[in-house]
Amino acid sequence: MAGPVPHSWLDFLDVYEGGRSKAAPGVQTVVKLSSNETPFGPSPKALEAYAASAATIHRYPDATAADLKAAIADLTGLDPQRMVCGLGSDEVLKLVCRAYAGPGDEVIYSRYGFMMYPIAARSVGATPVEAPDNNFVADVDQILAAVTANTKVVFLANPNNPTGTYLPRAEVIRLVSGLPSSVVLVLDAAYAEYADAGDYTAGEDLVDQYPNIVVTRTFSKIYGLAALRLGWGYGSADVISMLDRLRDPFNLPTPTQKAGIAAVLDQAWVDDARSHNTKERARVTASLTALGLNVVPSQANFILIRFTRDGNRMAEAANDYLLKHGYILRWLPKQGLGDCLRLTIGLTEENDAVIALLRDFLAGDAI
Ligand code: PMP
Repeated sequence: MAGPVPHSWLDFLDVYEGGRSKAAPGVQTVVKLSSNETPFGPSPKALEAYAASAATIHRYPDATAADLKAAIADLTGLDPQRMVCGLGSDEVLKLVCRAYAGPGDEVIYSRYGFMMYPIAARSVGATPVEAPDNNFVADVDQILAAVTANTKVVFLANPNNPTGTYLPRAEVIRLVSGLPSSVVLVLDAAYAEYADAGDYTAGEDLVDQYPNIVVTRTFSKIYGLAALRLGWGYGSADVISMLDRLRDPFNLPTPTQKAGIAAVLDQAWVDDARSHNTKERARVTASLTALGLNVVPSQANFILIRFTRDGNRMAEAANDYLLKHGYILRWLPKQGLGDCLRLTIGLTEENDAVIALLRDFLAGDAI
């Protein structure tokens, strides 16, 4: 008997694969450096707020997340009326596709862009279109060249995952200026807090001038709240109002909102995490480069390590070697990066261990 038939465009919908959390069988100590999580966890104040919220979970959460938006507005100076909160920034990315793209439409992103973009496009029947990059950096000219009359959304992760590279503000302006104003440009700034280049912007400063920009942010990275699924988007009043009507009314559980507020209020915690990352990102990059590995310059909390000689085989073998020692990195053959490993910056001693293991591996003990 024939069963229910889903939309034909869902035939090619991929499952999003997160970073693995298990090392090789039998390995006791596991250090997970595969999902760009902060090694410090959340602020203790966020944990306290989360625990305290247990007393009210029989009540529906605040559907407008008003206190959370007010806390973000206090920190950033942004207009809380033009924020939409999502269950992770993933939800906001998907809402943009649901609102602005559908069957027959095209959604552009750069080669080696974040894996959710094609999934978000396909989930609404739109066609994902990959624009060539330029040496692991998004290429504005190539993105603009890919625009057709059917283009509805362009996603730019800035900094990008998994490459760690970024586009400076002037390039983002060149991109948005070259797009038809009917195309939504999503500036996915999941790693914005880690970017320290002087010419970087997450993009909220561009929203007034370009009402087709939506900036997305997350609490999953530097704020250490990945499991609570908290993200938000910022854009023009019209776009945000559309996304807000489309989302589930009670999408953010009270514990998520409360922990988010406390996390925003503890900027000292964020500053510490950021300075650790900046220092360690530079140190690990230099150490691995000295080992003869090619590291893509990163503005995020991870680095992409390239094995230039016999790339795919070496990267896979290095990954297995690290897994055997309990260190989980991310090997990304499905994204065309089979010759690379992505390493999330961990605690100093964890980074030291990865450097030492890769040194041993390259010295030939391991292969
Ligand atoms: N954008 C990018 C570029 C990411 O790397 C991630 C997390 N892997 C996200 C968005 C989604 O993050 P979340 O849904 O946890 O906010």
